[in-house]
Amino acid sequence: MGKKRIYLSSPTMHSEEQQFVKEAFDTNWIAPLGPNVTAFEEEMAAYAKAGYVTALSSGTAAIHLALKLLNIGPGDVVFVSDLTFAATCNPIVYEGATPVFIDAEPDTWNMSPRALEKAFEKYPKPKAVLCAYLYGTPAKIDEIMAVCEAHHVPYIEDAAESLGSTYKGKHTGTLGRFGIFSFNGNKIITTSGGGMLVSEDEEAIKKAVFLATQARDPARYYLHSQIGYNYRMSNVVAGIGRGQLPHLDEHKARKQAIYRQYKEAFADISEIGMNPLNPDGDANNWLSGMLIERESNVTPDMIMDALEAENIESRPIWKPMHEQPVFVKCDFMPHNEDGSSVGSGVFERGLCLPSDIKNTQEDMERIISIIRNCFGR
Ligand SMILES: *Cc1c(COP(=O)(O)O)cnc(C)c1O
Repeated sequence: MGKKRIYLSSPTMHSEEQQFVKEAFDTNWIAPLGPNVTAFEEEMAAYAKAGYVTALSSGTAAIHLALKLLNIGPGDVVFVSDLTFAATCNPIVYEGATPVFIDAEPDTWNMSPRALEKAFEKYPKPKAVLCAYLYGTPAKIDEIMAVCEAHHVPYIEDAAESLGSTYKGKHTGTLGRFGIFSFNGNKIITTSGGGMLVSEDEEAIKKAVFLATQARDPARYYLHSQIGYNYRMSNVVAGIGRGQLPHLDEHKARKQAIYRQYKEAFADISEIGMNPLNPDGDANNWLSGMLIERESNVTPDMIMDALEAENIESRPIWKPMHEQPVFVKCDFMPHNEDGSSVGSGVFERGLCLPSDIKNTQEDMERIISIIRNCFGR
């Protein structure tokens, strides 16, 4: 009792956030538009070297709009990452389209280019490929995009977890036809809730703003020829984002240091591996993940229980989408020739370690010693 709670990943505020929020109040820009929204968009685009962006109420909304902009609807198939959070694929179902889940590969835990290729043999005409970058690690993006280009299918990047990560020097989220960012409460920077849609296509981003603001046609009265959404980011919330963004690289460096510290601390325990990084990328290490060898008697639950007993938060790996009750009827394309799922293996033997950038050295040592203890060290 009384032990300080250590979080998986909680918001880290500085002081600029409140300045921008105060400005919104002082100028009475309390609306889903305003100077903070415009400036946050400009600053994010400059940071990520993105063509055009629009700030939205969530990352999920951004994914939904990307699918709308590609005219995805009933009867369409979308290839999507299997080992991810449900928000990646839910918008496919909002549009009445059908997700086909593509297994992860072991090198980055992201969409397997080989399984993707196999999926094209079975479903030659999907409307899009949608790939999430798990825990901040970029996928084998060139390989995936080569498959997409060979089949003339647009590529959407779910960079919700990988904001600040780069792949061959370019920011994740800026490489496909569309990219999306999230500023939810536990992401690397947060606005409490929010998202962004990214594209090189200026017209598409204009259309996204139109759809996100109730699809009002240009007329004096309220004229609508399409179904719209209320998906714009609030000017108050954008102020938080403006205050967070200058700290993104510092958050990333801290997350990377946490990852390195875990890796070094467990280097002598052969049963433990860390979540893989992509040598072609620079990951933000949003969450540090751990994988236990198949032969080990230690289970992720044992570690999570031991941490929880000390008031330390940890979490299982995302449960693969093809194992979710709501998606049981959807098809799944495994990476392995024998039909076994790489993602299911990661889920069974992996867990996410506390990756809060406010953890002190003392906190880190406590976490590490509890985990080492589980392995009899
Ligand atoms: C957080 C997250 C989202 C959703 O973003 P929200 O802003 O919470 O809607 C989508 N995809 C992945 C992989 C995420 O982790």
